[in-house]
Amino acid sequence: MKTEAKPAPRRQPAQTEPASAPRSRRDRESGELVLHGLAVSQGVGIGKLATASEGAPTIERRELFEDQVPWETERFDQAVALSRKQLAKLRARLSILPEDANRELEPLLDAYAQMLGNSRLTRNIRKRIAEQRVNAEAAVADEADALAEAMFAAGTDDRATRQRRADEVREIGRRLTRNLTATPWRNYASLPHGAILAAELLTPSDAALLEPARLAGVAAEEGGLEGHTSIMLRALGVPAVLGVPGLMEHASPGTMAIVDGGAGTVTLRPTAATLAAARKAVAAYARERQRLAKLRRLPAITRDEEPVELQANLELPIELPMIAQSGAVGIGLLRTEFLFMNRDDVPDEDAQAEAYLQVVDAMQGDPVTIRVLDWGGEKQIESLVARGIVPGAGGDNPALGVRGLRLLLKETELFETQLAAILRAAARGPVRVLLPMVTTPEEVRAARDMYDRVARRLRRRGVEIPDPLPPLGIMIETPGAALAADSLALESDFFAIGTNDLAMYTLAVDRSETGASHLYDPLHPAVLRLMQFATEAALRMRMSVSVCGEIAGDPRLTPLLLGLGIRSLSMSSASVPRVKQAVRSVAIDDCARFARSVMEQSDPARIAALVAEFRSRMDA
Ligand code: PEP
Ligand code: MG
Repeated sequence: MKTEAKPAPRRQPAQTEPASAPRSRRDRESGELVLHGLAVSQGVGIGKLATASEGAPTIERRELFEDQVPWETERFDQAVALSRKQLAKLRARLSILPEDANRELEPLLDAYAQMLGNSRLTRNIRKRIAEQRVNAEAAVADEADALAEAMFAAGTDDRATRQRRADEVREIGRRLTRNLTATPWRNYASLPHGAILAAELLTPSDAALLEPARLAGVAAEEGGLEGHTSIMLRALGVPAVLGVPGLMEHASPGTMAIVDGGAGTVTLRPTAATLAAARKAVAAYARERQRLAKLRRLPAITRDEEPVELQANLELPIELPMIAQSGAVGIGLLRTEFLFMNRDDVPDEDAQAEAYLQVVDAMQGDPVTIRVLDWGGEKQIESLVARGIVPGAGGDNPALGVRGLRLLLKETELFETQLAAILRAAARGPVRVLLPMVTTPEEVRAARDMYDRVARRLRRRGVEIPDPLPPLGIMIETPGAALAADSLALESDFFAIGTNDLAMYTLAVDRSETGASHLYDPLHPAVLRLMQFATEAALRMRMSVSVCGEIAGDPRLTPLLLGLGIRSLSMSSASVPRVKQAVRSVAIDDCARFARSVMEQSDPARIAALVAEFRSRMDA
């Protein structure tokens, strides 16, 4: 058995996989096994492992008009491309599996890959879409059934081989329909209380279905440090370790386990001594949370009384009470895409207005920054897929395709509905509107035209909306936007720096993947220089600028961000107390001097060392 471990620690600025990477460790006598992964969400959880059962996709049959055929075929092609990508990932993992499993799986993956190529299956599905004018999922289901039956009935092979071939066709058909309908792979409602969820992969929409109160922790084989799944798990306050190679090989349901989301370890079958230490850690973590809760009512000001705005990022309404308890003053980033997930229909203007109003009311006069739909990358939104709205594939690079604002400017009805709903909610409290994935001033101008048009239409309808309209700002989350920040500042009312995507695009490392996660480092000088450039462009224009990427919630980085001139940070609500503590323990002059010394460095390892040094001086 081979259980190689990945280098784990968050933001360890390693350029290559370190030779001293932690390894899986098995204690032969006790059977205890420690697996290492990425430490994505703090806290220690103890419980029995549970895996989630698969939810079956619902296939609806739709007749197509002739002009819908090319588009439906394109949808099918995208599902094929996604399935191929998923299978390529499975193949990449073969090397970490034992040889026996490898021998079993390799020919199966070959067979699947062939079926997804120019095969009888895919040719016939395209034909059904074109000739029978049925939607892609119905064509896939019909053809997979027909082909499987034909394969089983005919041929010279023995019965078992024919059965296996038929099963393979059905399996690939299921994968395609699942991708077409964006059905979550699993059902989480039946997980036992206090369980540790173990999974191969957890998507952001899967994470949105979790009930944090039921779960002691989460561990998964795949995932990256700043993918939306990690962000969700932090937001829900569930201890979690992702990117744990070999996990599912050992994760039989019912196995006792400890997830340490700070250390990035999953311990299976812990000894009595390990269990006792973990219980102590759980109690210590709870005490620390109580201590930090006392900071809630204290102001977020530095030692020299410079005020700093600390706000929360919000994904799901379930987080609202946590935000209230955290001491955050408003919401700096409301990720609205989660409102569209895990449902069959797209929420209309009334439903969206209701959802935004609920948040604005809950904030009781504190500001709320609502980001319009940022769809693309690794998020799945089944309700929109069902309506025929899909992000442009961007070839093999969905992160580079028609996503975020680019998609909204194409799907004008979707965009206008959302803007109208936000403007209606803005009548009840201070709101700002934030545009995701912007790269050119022209996009901002086009969005503003639409914003003004929607406002005029609402006024004509006699709907109460604020005058002047709420500020319209942009995310700075691509190197292009950061370097063009001065020209973008002329078109925008505020900037929110999204370091999660900024680091991904700058360093060419997928934020939600495990493979190159050791190179994902927001402290890389290239990322910091881009942030500095964008911040200075905003400050020159006396324009509000915040950081809402995950680094905003890391108290070790608070002095650096303050030193760069940032006075507004938005983060997962669980991080607010620690960041407030960091703000209250520094003086702005020291932060500015510290930031200058960091910005002189060219080596990420040196920057990490300086950050650690400053932190230990703060703690001393
Ligand atoms: C970011 O990219 O840093 C960001 C805040 O947006 P999201 O994580 O939703 O992509
Ligand atoms: Mg982003």
